[in-house]
Amino acid sequence: MRTDMLIDGEWTTGTGGGSLPTLDPATGEVIAHVPEAAEADVDAAVDAAARAFGSAEWAGMLPAERARLMLRLADLLEADADAFARLETTDQGQPLAVSSGFSVPNAVEHLRYYAGWVTKITGITAPLSVPDVDYRTRREPLGVCALITPWNFPLMILVWKLAPSLATGNTVVVKPAEQTPLTTLRLAELVREAGVPDGVVNVVTGGPEVGRALVRHPKVAKVSFTGSTGVGREIAARAGHDLKHVSLELGGKAPSVITSDADIDAAVAGNLMGGLLNSGQVCAAYTRFYVDAARHDEFAEKLAAGAAATKLGHGLAEDTQMGPLVSAEQRDQAERYVRIGQEEGAHLHDRAPLDGDTGYFVRPAVFSGVTDDMRIAREEIFGPVLSVLPYDDPDELVARANDTDYGLAAVIWSRDIGVANRLAARVRAGTVWINMPPVLDAAAAWGGMKASGLGREMGWSAIEAFTQVKSVWTNLA
Ligand code: NAD
Repeated sequence: MRTDMLIDGEWTTGTGGGSLPTLDPATGEVIAHVPEAAEADVDAAVDAAARAFGSAEWAGMLPAERARLMLRLADLLEADADAFARLETTDQGQPLAVSSGFSVPNAVEHLRYYAGWVTKITGITAPLSVPDVDYRTRREPLGVCALITPWNFPLMILVWKLAPSLATGNTVVVKPAEQTPLTTLRLAELVREAGVPDGVVNVVTGGPEVGRALVRHPKVAKVSFTGSTGVGREIAARAGHDLKHVSLELGGKAPSVITSDADIDAAVAGNLMGGLLNSGQVCAAYTRFYVDAARHDEFAEKLAAGAAATKLGHGLAEDTQMGPLVSAEQRDQAERYVRIGQEEGAHLHDRAPLDGDTGYFVRPAVFSGVTDDMRIAREEIFGPVLSVLPYDDPDELVARANDTDYGLAAVIWSRDIGVANRLAARVRAGTVWINMPPVLDAAAAWGGMKASGLGREMGWSAIEAFTQVKSVWTNLA
């Protein structure tokens, strides 16, 4: 298991001497320690990335060669998929079905998708109203990009940033979340094995201070951050002051609308998946369910029964459907919201029994009869706590769904495709799914409105986000 940092092609424990433990959240046991980078280590990593950005080896690499490098990395990751999935499950807690069926394959697909873009990033020519000139644009990389990632899907979210960074010719310094650094360090090994030149990809480990040092570093041209809205605001403020590029993928509180004619069983199954995937530690988790009052009780009871039947356990156990939360802190936060929901007067349905008492497990909690003003319906919980709210008049739905600071995702369950699409157009969210669980694809733009973030990842949007346009004029006279 790789536990040291990668700076300028060298593995190092850094200069600070400090280290941080990373735990198996299903047992609470320490798996490994990783270095806590000192400011000097961050400086060294950024300097290495800055040198690599200007190097002939990287800047001069032909697009077809860069594409091959990325395809090689994808192949290496795919060949090692099983080990990556097990490591992600052990460090993060997600069931093996999630890590091996979703996280790792999605990362592989992102690498291949962006490898495909490398040879297709074009500028334009434009008919200027100036005599005797030729005008064209070039899309150029930004420079050193700081990629700061959260703990809920460590490998996958890293690759959402890394793949377009490399495809566009940037260099990067990665800082994984302190709770889940292990798959990032293992991927760094594969980056070297694939033949990516030294300094193009660097990894520093540590907590918020390491992230801050990266964000304020004068040689960092862009910060691509996924994490909480509070930290996103802090980063945006600093990036605004320094005039750095910034992309922010932040929190969410996705509404799920279930109309009177919806297929309730399909909606229950899809919402259970959308609400309980990765124990609810998903920025797009379906968390507040607006159900036609005539179907509210039926939906809530079926949802609660499905949640209670969910098999909790260690992510490595084959029959586990839901793993632990990532840390004691997240577990306590989820349980605190369960108490808040009860105090607020919502009805808590029976919860599944919990076997054993080790690890950071939380039984799914389904509340019904929830009202819009309750904290459980308004605040991001990032745990398996689901709120069912009745509605009487479909005309109130848009305002209620939009009555939130967030705007990452929404879902609509209806057999009337006209109703569903009219709602989809008016909900303020970066992604709307109709009659389906949350699904992602490298080709589909991803990101939030309002307090859910700035900018979009995936698809062509990420190519734009990691490049800038240069105008080139040629005098033909
Ligand atoms: P977090 O904001 O606490 O930490 C995220 C990362 O930022 C970590 O690497 C952390 O060390 C670092 N960090 C913390 N403070 C920093 C600072 N001041 N400056 C620079 N870096 C700093 O978030 P988290 O608790 O790890 O993740 C959960 C949050 O992430 C949730 O709010 C969730 O909704 C959000 N999220 C969003 C998306 C999305 O695509 N929109 C995806 C996953 C998670």
